[in-house]
Amino acid sequence: MNAPNHRRQFASDNYSGVCPEAWSALEEANLGHAPSYGDDPWTSQAADLIRETFETQCEVFFVFNGTAANSLALASLCQSYHSILCHETAHAETDECGAPEFFSNGTKVLLLPGPDGKLDPLAIDRMVKRRSDIHYPKPKVLSLTQATELGTVYSREELQTIRHQAQQSNLRIHMDGARFANGVAALGAKPRETSWEAGVDVLCLGGTKNGSLVGEAVIFFNLALADEFDYRCKQAGQLASKMRFLAAPWVGLLKNGAWLKYAAHANRLAASLAESIRQMPELKILFPTQANSVFVQIPERAIARLRGKGWLFYTFIGQGGCRFMCSWDTTEEDVRQLVADLKQCLT
Ligand SMILES: *Cc1c(COP(=O)(O)O)cnc(C)c1O
Repeated sequence: MNAPNHRRQFASDNYSGVCPEAWSALEEANLGHAPSYGDDPWTSQAADLIRETFETQCEVFFVFNGTAANSLALASLCQSYHSILCHETAHAETDECGAPEFFSNGTKVLLLPGPDGKLDPLAIDRMVKRRSDIHYPKPKVLSLTQATELGTVYSREELQTIRHQAQQSNLRIHMDGARFANGVAALGAKPRETSWEAGVDVLCLGGTKNGSLVGEAVIFFNLALADEFDYRCKQAGQLASKMRFLAAPWVGLLKNGAWLKYAAHANRLAASLAESIRQMPELKILFPTQANSVFVQIPERAIARLRGKGWLFYTFIGQGGCRFMCSWDTTEEDVRQLVADLKQCLT
């Protein structure tokens, strides 16, 4: 089962397979026929479970991936003459091939700095106030990622500070929650505390990296902004005809709390990996390990040797370093093996 080509890796949480809860919901959804384009019981059950999970009314849409979720959500928050503010390491900026600009018909993305992948609230203010004349693309949306691309997590207080800044500047808030579950698990928070209670208008909730096979949920807490979003999805090729197969995994993930159980598990293993790495003086951890990834500076020679042992990992995310990412199915033994190989590669 764990033959070389099936070996669990630390390259990304999207290297993992499908968790049993999502898989069995899919099997159930596969029995017989169901109405198409979202008019099926699975889609309504998944949306209801999301409303239950977030303890509020919200409009829910299911799309195929995070790039579509982010860019369509962002497009629905602004006009093309507006601007979107996000961190310079944001996925929407660095890993979506310009899709947010494309789907919003050219809305400019303005980049903000901030330590450890988190927005500096003062930088928001600076960017908004830089200009107020008609020649500047009017700032309209603030996009933030929870957990961040660098494996850090905004605390509730940090989110409230950002919310305050955004409100002062009349910015709507979009949250890229590809790893929202890891953020919630890390904080021990209620999902509502780090979403609509933090002023988030629309949340892109990640399923794929949390144990699903495909599909993210776009959740509008600001109901008015959801107007005609269904048309936006359809036009972008994001309206699944067999929608039940995008929705059913969510039922499996959310029904008995599997989504948080798995996120907490991945976070715990990342913490344990970081702990072992801290024992190796040749290595340097680059950012606080708060979610399910560990970013490490490793000597070049050791990187090559580690790759030679068959390990796959990314070195291009964020501000360099090697990224090791734990998934819902990463085991303690996987971490032990990686640590043992790391040690060998350093000698
Ligand atoms: C993985 C990821 C996404 C979604 O990427 P897709 O490949 O388009 O599904 C979005 N945001 C962040 C921060 C991610 O890590």
